[in-house]
Amino acid sequence: MKNFDLFVIGGGSGGVRAARIAANHGARVALAEEYRMGGTCVIRGCVPKKLMVMASRFGDEFAASSGFGWLADAPKFSWPVLMSRVHAELDRLEKIYTNNLTKAGVEIFGSRARIVDQNTVELTATGERVTAKHILIATGATPTMPNDFPGAQLAQNSNDFFLWPERPHRVVIQGAGYIALELACLLNRLGSNVVLVLRGDFVLRGFDQEIREHIQAQLIADGLDIKCGATIASITENTAESPLKVTLADGTVILADRVLRALGRAPNTHDLGLEDIGLAVGQKGEIPTDDFAATAVKGVYAVGDVTDRVTLTPAAIREGHAFADSVFGNKPRAVKLELIPTAVFTTPEIGTVGLNEEQARKNFSKIEIYSTKFRPMKVAMADQNTQCLMKIIVDKATDRVLGVHIVGPEAGEMIQLVGIAIQMKATKADFDATLAVHPTIAEELVTMRTATR
Ligand code: FAD
Ligand code: NDP
Repeated sequence: MKNFDLFVIGGGSGGVRAARIAANHGARVALAEEYRMGGTCVIRGCVPKKLMVMASRFGDEFAASSGFGWLADAPKFSWPVLMSRVHAELDRLEKIYTNNLTKAGVEIFGSRARIVDQNTVELTATGERVTAKHILIATGATPTMPNDFPGAQLAQNSNDFFLWPERPHRVVIQGAGYIALELACLLNRLGSNVVLVLRGDFVLRGFDQEIREHIQAQLIADGLDIKCGATIASITENTAESPLKVTLADGTVILADRVLRALGRAPNTHDLGLEDIGLAVGQKGEIPTDDFAATAVKGVYAVGDVTDRVTLTPAAIREGHAFADSVFGNKPRAVKLELIPTAVFTTPEIGTVGLNEEQARKNFSKIEIYSTKFRPMKVAMADQNTQCLMKIIVDKATDRVLGVHIVGPEAGEMIQLVGIAIQMKATKADFDATLAVHPTIAEELVTMRTATR
């Protein structure tokens, strides 16, 4: 039986980072991946999504260009060309991930793995068993697909989306979180008619209310058909021209080529052998850990989406790296995930860090809001409609900036840098003291002088 210092289950963002760093620290490491190296982010998440978002924005650029004197017909978009290019890029990245692990000395098993006991893992493809001093569970999460109405099995999820052979003309998307909005937005811009079905009144629960209202209005202005307070009652097979008939609870009927559900993701802990080692999971199936990724079972650790703490790639990478440093590098490092800058890649984009206005009002006795709405320079020239919203939330007592929220072009890029300032506990006076970069969209962040409320 092969024996390792560390056996990692899952070759996604968290598992790959942990395996490579542990191997660099001198550990004998193995990793099992049942699907494709790189995991959700690289194969069916952040990377293909962002490439498709980029593709979806060229239409605006072509349209805008005539306002800047470029007088040409807009080129035609081809879904098959885009998708073959996207998948070629994913193949390239997958090879890089595999090579980097191999170069670091990690032994890779292309198989599902199951825990037998706290020092033994079974590779289900071959039945081979290997032993390890430590086991890291980095198995990620899977789209939640409840079977909650007749025909629910006719709906698809984000994993299916990246494999669609053609661009659907009509799509119904259920949900109003990150994935629903990003995919709805990019499909809409690539020419599909998109109906977004959400059970609440506004998209993106948990985000700043003003941001939610602003982005929703922008998306509607952009042609998304948003049905609030709506749920799907049934999906039935229909004609060849309109393969699916979606009936909402209020009786509305929508014909569609595809129905996509983006209702959150559940941790991949099913059939991992956790019961056999006495490791209890939480309500969603998540593995509870301490800040050092240790579970309740000695020698067994977990990082990334499977813990359902912060389900973002940088969090999984940070946790995986810190775990390897702590256990194999003699550099114990707790991971506290706070003040997380994040972006939603809608068009326009959303970038946000820190508290939203509602949270700030609840936790601080007096806050000030600085906000501004404007049409960016380029958009005005192009005769388009994108409205930026920028908002800074300040604790009046200390002048500390508690949160920054941006809707507008490149909000994701901006919020990454604002995140450094917030991490350093910047005050509003620090923002004010920073000279503007002119003319930019970002300069509004340092030129708002009068509190809106
Ligand atoms: P994963 O990356 O999911 O990796 C887990 C791996 O384990 C998978 O490859 C799986 O096949 C494998 N596995 C599971 N069970 C077993 C087993 N028993 N044996 C062997 N292998 C197993 N985050 C961002 O920060 N920015 C974004 O823009 C972004 N966009 C996203 C878009 C979409 C459509 C989706 C779905 C997610 C997106 N995310 C984004 C979230 C991000 O992808 C995840 O947070 C991240 O991938 C989590 O990494 P992980 O290592 O925990 O899990
Ligand atoms: P989210 O948690 O973001 O959103 C889930 C959505 O589904 C919500 O709108 C929720 O509604 C709705 N919902 C849940 N259950 C039901 C139900 N039974 N019926 C109707 N609606 C329902 O999950 P996603 O799947 O969009 O994404 C998963 C995670 O992946 C994200 O939370 C994020 O961490 C990560 N991600 C990050 C991205 C980025 O960084 N840009 C991009 C994509 C994913 P309600 O609000 O009413 O609860």
